[in-house]
Amino acid sequence: MPSVRYEMPSDLSALASCLGRADGNTFLLGGGTDLLPRFHGRVPAGTTLIDLRTVAGLDTLATEGGVLTLGANVTYTRIARDPFVRDALPCLAEMAAGVGSEQIRNAACLPGNLANASPGGDAIGVLMALDATALILGPDGSTRALSIPELVLGIGRTALSRQEAILGVRIPVPGRRRSGFGKLGLGARREVVIANVSLTLVFGFDESAGRIDTARIVVGSAAPTAYRAPEAESLCLGAEPSARLAEALSDRLQAYVRESIGGNPLFAHKPHDVKGLALDLFHRVFADRF
Ligand SMILES: Cc1cc2nc3c(=O)[nH]c(=O)nc-3n(C[C@H](O)[C@H](O)[C@H](O)COP(=O)(O)OP(=O)(O)OC[C@H]3O[C@@H](n4cnc5c(N)ncnc54)[C@H](O)[C@@H]3O)c2cc1C
Repeated sequence: MPSVRYEMPSDLSALASCLGRADGNTFLLGGGTDLLPRFHGRVPAGTTLIDLRTVAGLDTLATEGGVLTLGANVTYTRIARDPFVRDALPCLAEMAAGVGSEQIRNAACLPGNLANASPGGDAIGVLMALDATALILGPDGSTRALSIPELVLGIGRTALSRQEAILGVRIPVPGRRRSGFGKLGLGARREVVIANVSLTLVFGFDESAGRIDTARIVVGSAAPTAYRAPEAESLCLGAEPSARLAEALSDRLQAYVRESIGGNPLFAHKPHDVKGLALDLFHRVFADRF
């Protein structure tokens, strides 16, 4: 009778060997917060679990040459508490601090969110706004890098094969930027809030001129995948932060979400949600400028 197989690769070469044997009944185990609930308390016989937490070297959280590397085993708790992330990439720290409960944040990691490819996955939009790439290991030990839009393709759909694992993400950190993440959601408990809509704002800001010089704006949970809002970004370029700009930006984002929900009455609240979220978030990111 087939039993459950539990693999504990100790390094990348052992992980690659496990990946080479992976089939349709093989699952990579990160924090397990998405995967294990799917089994409803019983892992089916014939399943192979590959535990990534035993792989050495996947717990790196470090910046070198203007790039932040977050290994696959770095939990949300570590991201949310890291002084560099909090200072340089507030949107990432805010997202991490807002995932689930403390127990979830102590276990869950970014790659599980990307591989799960839920429209409500908070990390996807933030990583897209930060222009992150995912580093992916194949069964022959080679690696490839994919941007977030190249990796996350649709609801529960990614560019990963069964025989690939995300080793971590890399985020360029080109000097100081202003950023923020917010979400609105429904949940009976504060700890279990699946986003109805989420928003990430990332701005390059010329502090002496008082003007925005780059903008990346990503809306999440309003379509099968998170998406950038180029017209909203253009609106901000060269502009001084102001209540008028916040209003115009929130109107533009509302129009985006109205279009992306495609008239679905179940989602009729989302355009209103994103408007309020955008106003709040913009004021928060530029709190010292109003
Ligand atoms: C109570 C609760 C609250 C939650 N709240 C939120 C929330 O607020 N926001 C949010 O976005 N999510 C939330 N989640 C979902 C979940 O915690 C996140 O998606 C988390 O990032 C998943 O990471 P993990 O390491 O636990 O992944 P796992 O559960 O280990 O894996 C998830 C999927 O990804 C695959 N996978 C894991 N690691 C890798 C890898 N390195 N390479 C390739 N594939 C991999 C697994 O095989 C599996 O298919 C919540 C879940 C629970 C149970």
